[in-house]
Amino acid sequence: IGTSASEDIIDVMVVHVEVRLKPIYDVDLADIRKRVAALLRENFTNWGEFDSWHHDPLLEKHVEKIRVADCEEREEKADPSIDPFDFIIYAYHTASQDDVEELMANEADGAGEESSQDDTMAATVLELPNASLDGSWEMLFYENQMKEKLLRYIYTTLIYSDAKVDTNIISWNRLLLLHGPPGTGKTSLCRALAHKLSIRLADRYSYGKLIEVNSHSLFSKWFSESGKLVQKMFSMIQEMASDPDAFIVVLIDEVESLTASRASASSGTEPSDAIRVVNALLTQLDKLKQRSNVLVVTTSNLSENIDSAFVDRADIKQYIGPPTADAIYQIFISCFLELVRVKLIDIGTTELPCDYYHDAKECAEGSIEKQLAYISEKAVGMSGRSLRRLPIIAHTKLQLLLNGPKLCVKQYFIMSLKVPI
Ligand code: ADP
Repeated sequence: IGTSASEDIIDVMVVHVEVRLKPIYDVDLADIRKRVAALLRENFTNWGEFDSWHHDPLLEKHVEKIRVADCEEREEKADPSIDPFDFIIYAYHTASQDDVEELMANEADGAGEESSQDDTMAATVLELPNASLDGSWEMLFYENQMKEKLLRYIYTTLIYSDAKVDTNIISWNRLLLLHGPPGTGKTSLCRALAHKLSIRLADRYSYGKLIEVNSHSLFSKWFSESGKLVQKMFSMIQEMASDPDAFIVVLIDEVESLTASRASASSGTEPSDAIRVVNALLTQLDKLKQRSNVLVVTTSNLSENIDSAFVDRADIKQYIGPPTADAIYQIFISCFLELVRVKLIDIGTTELPCDYYHDAKECAEGSIEKQLAYISEKAVGMSGRSLRRLPIIAHTKLQLLLNGPKLCVKQYFIMSLKVPI
């Protein structure tokens, strides 16, 4: 995108800010946005939680939390009236984590058995944004702005849909495949992405739903009926998606169980049923792609076993590997801060450790940061799941030694270093 050489261009920092409202609020959201933007213009210093708003009576009454989430740069023609910061404020409230529905697929009519109505739980439905997912995006650490790239991909598909791009000429399926070893955060990332999108798209859609498909339940005990079960479940999803005010994310975890390669299925014991399931799924996904309010996110531990026609439909196939030392340091810091928050670690008057591995490596020998950076290097190769378990293992061992739950930070780290990693 070119600009004339004579024009002066400046970079405007576009800052995305998420404002979580109290469960019951009765206020014009435009007022909230204006107040928050004004406060940020005066006091914005850093990413993460923004605290300088409690003195404002309107915000104190209606707001629960303000998070300065991320930013990007936008080029603008230089003009003295331009504000170098453009704060985009998303106000949202979360549904309770108990708001889970179950989608039942009924096998009886498909199997031709009149007497035994056989309900199978085909999927669970969670309302979005959801309290159980709030903050989960921020707790996942990956290299190279991978999360931000995924978010940007969805925005791009929306821009294309809004611009009414002819899908016969440029095609996209709104289908994402995350693959890699177990425990690397794929499922958590899909859920966090769904939650994040529902916050960012609240202006377009009045509500959101995350439908988690239970892949295993879609294999009928009635031979040859599985394809029909898949069809039934997708017709329920279509029905939900027919409301243009709804934003729907369909999560299919371990998608290889539904999309086993047809080539290998034909050599299995019940070949035709597995093939019917893949065929039904592909047909249903093709139907679903007409709906611009639906995103399908899938995960797999064994991407090479997935049917090539499915893989080909995925717009983004992202490999997710075990975390690097950098990401591990951030996982450890998040665990550490949580233990400080609940007062299981007592750091006394010591300052909280810095957020980044590269700064930590430069810290003084024996400092918290330096020790955490050291453990992070040692832990490379472990999955995110094992890393998040490490503090509890260290704590359990230390508790036996100290005979009490409260740890001082030095003891905690000494113990962590003794955990075999
Ligand atoms: P997968 O679907 O890949 O098997 P999960 O999403 O079930 O993995 O993740 C297991 C746990 O490990 C979750 O608690 C998640 O938060 C944590 N975890 C995995 N990878 C990371 C990471 N890169 N950063 C932070 N936490 C992670």
